[in-house]
Amino acid sequence: MEPRLIKMLDNIPDALFLLDLNFDFIYLNHQAQSLLGRNKLDLIGKCIWTEFPFLISTPIYREYHKALKSKKAKILRDYYPTLNRWFEVRIYPDDDGLMIYFCDITELKKNEVALYQKTEHFRAVFENSAIGIGVVNLDAQPVECNHALLDMIGYTMDEISQMSFMDFTHPDDVDKDLELFNNLMLGKLSSYQIEKRYIRKDHQIIWARLTVSPIFSVQGEIQYIMSMIENITDVKIAEQKQLELTKELQRLSTLDGLTELNNRRSFDEFLSQEWHRCLEEGAPLSLILLDIDGFKKYNDTYGHHEGDACLKTIADTLKKALHEPNHFVCRYGGEEFAVILPDTDLQTAEMVAESLRSYVESLQIYHLYGQSGKYVTVSLGVSTIIPSIFSNPQQLIKNTDKALYEAKNYGRNQVRVFSA
Ligand code: GH3
Ligand code: MG
Ligand code: MG
Repeated sequence: MEPRLIKMLDNIPDALFLLDLNFDFIYLNHQAQSLLGRNKLDLIGKCIWTEFPFLISTPIYREYHKALKSKKAKILRDYYPTLNRWFEVRIYPDDDGLMIYFCDITELKKNEVALYQKTEHFRAVFENSAIGIGVVNLDAQPVECNHALLDMIGYTMDEISQMSFMDFTHPDDVDKDLELFNNLMLGKLSSYQIEKRYIRKDHQIIWARLTVSPIFSVQGEIQYIMSMIENITDVKIAEQKQLELTKELQRLSTLDGLTELNNRRSFDEFLSQEWHRCLEEGAPLSLILLDIDGFKKYNDTYGHHEGDACLKTIADTLKKALHEPNHFVCRYGGEEFAVILPDTDLQTAEMVAESLRSYVESLQIYHLYGQSGKYVTVSLGVSTIIPSIFSNPQQLIKNTDKALYEAKNYGRNQVRVFSA
């Protein structure tokens, strides 16, 4: 062989040797000598199988023979335990024998193993994740779902793979999810997150927080869509309960505890609101103040408990007697009630007041020391105002109070209207 060629072959990091048709060594480069642990002077002219008998039991023996016979090149990868290394062995036959080329691929193999372990690791994370993970194709059909997701939805992988994710989405949530899904497909969104409902196979509705992101191909196109689905049903139920509780507390804070009529706070709010509305519309606003006659005496005679019962009966009667949805009745204080009548003139308000007086009288709540006869009666003051910037709600209350005072003064159990 040409000296320059020999030098070059000795310098390559791979082992190379030539065998003749009897498998005797003809040539070994430097790397082949160190790989086999023998000097070329010692090996040339000798048969590989006699010098390295352990090779007879390896695939190499068979492949060398096959290659020589078939005259076809062969590449095989094998692990050599004595060297603790992996080699890619290339066998190139010709009419005179074989050229064998050993390329050390131990590092490459290590990387392959690491990659495999990494893939296995990710698979374990996917399978064991407490959050549901689903991979869907571009038609939103599931191609892979982890255990957590299958448990959450109640379908098997076989069942789910025949469906679209939209098939088990709550009908009211399909549109918002589809719109975002389409925007993701169009590249308008890089990912999205929503709270939505799914319908399980057993028809149970569950709430979930869904995070959706695309999986790209090496060409940079969306290949699959990954959905991470967290069951938040318990959180939603707790939120709903909290909301109901808050609503109930709000409702209770506007009511009087004894009579369950609106309380003074909601009276102030309603009066202010209607004042401004009637001011804008130039509409009349009427107010009735109603006070039980001789109620101190009632309490003194029958006891506070009976007094409470009487207050409740009158409150219920007022509620029943007022039919218009915009009529507002409240417990104004102690044994005093107020009725706000928006868009109502004085004449109508007076009629309403008279009907309330008459209702209470007709209840015939026995009162030994009642003002008129033997029954509980009420006195009422009525006043109407067309709100203007020169007046205020307090003026309306003051006027009505004056009228009530007059009703008391004129003998009780009657309606008096305010006149300036
Ligand atoms: P008048 O005809 O002038 O209105 O006489 P009156 O006795 O009704 O008026 P007064 O203001 O002197 O007494 C009101 C009474 O109402 C005093 C109080 O004991 C009673 N009262 C106020 N709030 C309640 C309540 O929540 N329950 C009961 N049982 N009594 C109440
Ligand atoms: Mg009073
Ligand atoms: Mg009274």
